[in-house]
Amino acid sequence: MKIVIVGSGLAGLSAGYKLCKSNEIVIFEKDAEIGGMAASYCRNFAGKKYFIEKYYHHIFRSDSELLDLIRELGLEGQMLWLKGKNAYFVDGKNYPMNTPGEILKFKPLSFTDLVKLGLLVLRIKLINNTISYDRIKAKDWILDTAGQSVYENFFAPLMKSKFGENAENVSAAWLIGRVKIRSDRGKEGEKLGYLKGGFNSLIEALAREITAYGGKILQNETVTEIVIKDNAVQGVIANGNFIPCEAVISTVEPRVLDILTKGKLGALHATLQSIRYQGTACALIGLDRKLMKDGNYWLNIKANVPFGAVIEHTNFMPFEDYGEHLIYVTSYFQDENNDLWIKKEEEVLDSYLKGLEKMFSDFSRTDIHWAKLFRRMDTAPVYEQGYLEKVLPFSPGPSGLYLAGMFSSTNYPERSMNGSLKAGFEVASFFMKKEENCEVCWLD
Ligand SMILES: Cc1cc2nc3c(=O)[nH]c(=O)nc-3n(C[C@H](O)[C@H](O)[C@H](O)COP(=O)(O)OP(=O)(O)OC[C@H]3O[C@@H](n4cnc5c(N)ncnc54)[C@H](O)[C@@H]3O)c2cc1C
Repeated sequence: MKIVIVGSGLAGLSAGYKLCKSNEIVIFEKDAEIGGMAASYCRNFAGKKYFIEKYYHHIFRSDSELLDLIRELGLEGQMLWLKGKNAYFVDGKNYPMNTPGEILKFKPLSFTDLVKLGLLVLRIKLINNTISYDRIKAKDWILDTAGQSVYENFFAPLMKSKFGENAENVSAAWLIGRVKIRSDRGKEGEKLGYLKGGFNSLIEALAREITAYGGKILQNETVTEIVIKDNAVQGVIANGNFIPCEAVISTVEPRVLDILTKGKLGALHATLQSIRYQGTACALIGLDRKLMKDGNYWLNIKANVPFGAVIEHTNFMPFEDYGEHLIYVTSYFQDENNDLWIKKEEEVLDSYLKGLEKMFSDFSRTDIHWAKLFRRMDTAPVYEQGYLEKVLPFSPGPSGLYLAGMFSSTNYPERSMNGSLKAGFEVASFFMKKEENCEVCWLD
């Protein structure tokens, strides 16, 4: 059966990987590189080539499908579990946030507030049914559980930096899911997973498998319509050409899916319109020397700068793997009118560098080897109160049309590489079951 997959992110590649042995797969990707948000930038430096993700990425021990796939593709020799030091920059001061002892020294909270924060984390650890908190706002739940000061001095700045003006609408389900993952540290403290050589190895291994079975991955090819007639998929239009097929798996964001299907998804049209996504403007900078001398990997920031976090990749992975120091300076934004989206790349970079100069007295622009800004409009659903109702089904109605991606149930209440990979696997098995049933009907 000929299946067109729209998008070569992890959802599209994993669906293609599962289906390529018994079907003809054609993946259309609008960008020059494959991998979607997990794609990498290839840098040649000092006679050496390396790959670094355009947007910072690591994985957690709970990402079981992803870890199984890494094993299956023979990449487990590259898998590393490393400590990444975290800190919170508040009112001009860095507070390390790695151990309970360090957290107890977080001055913006009184001792009583710190106890309340600790109890909130313990309470979250005991929650089994995260989904039941979908209709409660995170803000209200924190205020009820730990009080005003813990909310205002600890959670509010972090949520504001992640969700901007939508922060107050985010659901407690998202917060609980997030805190559960980040507080699952074991005795040794939190270790994060990364592939030596970058997640590019995973993307390439998936692509190799698909093409080895005759599948095609077409880059710089934008799908402009998923053609649906009499409630059945006929094919897609890409770069003005009609490509007929029996099934389409779409992994594109909801508002794009709505455009591609020309309002033919009936009742789902309103849901597609109502799902809010946020954008990311992430600068990746190569430096001559370390930025965070205290060894921090991840610094959350509450300060008057145009970004919410600085992530020093080479305080996590060894500097020797790259030959230069690598940092991400990043911010989410909420809509297309934001300066981070409309201003020119040089202007956004300049505003980020001014922020770094303000925060790090010994940072100098002369240390910069290169800097790039990666930005995209739809990088994460905003998990607002009541979002669960908006989770999109794997099969939205028209025969032959399937959906998998950040909007799928596997990515609720937080999107991740594991969630999209799982969505790709689940849509593939959904497809196979449906086809098996049809063959049985036909044989009958
Ligand atoms: C800043 C940032 C940090 C992150 N950090 C982590 C992390 O540490 N750990 C983690 O697990 N996850 C992280 N993620 C999330 C993770 O990258 C995503 O959840 C996952 O990669 C999404 O995969 P996807 O296939 O669902 O979507 P995407 O990667 O968005 O893939 C969709 C693809 O469809 C293509 N496309 C769109 N429209 C069309 C069209 N009309 N025609 C053809 N192609 C089209 C797009 O170009 C894209 O390649 C991060 C994301 C961001 C932005």
